[in-house]
Amino acid sequence: MEKHTIVHIKKDCISCGACAAIAPDYWEMDEQALAKLKGAVQKGENWELDINTEEAKAINQEAADVCPVNIIHIKKKE
Ligand code: SF4
Repeated sequence: MEKHTIVHIKKDCISCGACAAIAPDYWEMDEQALAKLKGAVQKGENWELDINTEEAKAINQEAADVCPVNIIHIKKKE
């Protein structure tokens, strides 16, 4: 499948915990109670993680869908 990148606008996280509840293999809450995308690298103000399986895309899309402030995005990698 095409590669995708998860983009997390961490600075706007409101600490609800929904992403970590629905996709704990990818998301956890850090010591500041903000969501942390495991293994992500910082790109400017955002955090990004490349994924390359349908399973990863599906579970992270669920996390994106439940995020109340819409700060998780799945983008096709260029
Ligand atoms: S679902 Fe969104 S607002 Fe809630 S903890 Fe995760 S990134 Fe933050």
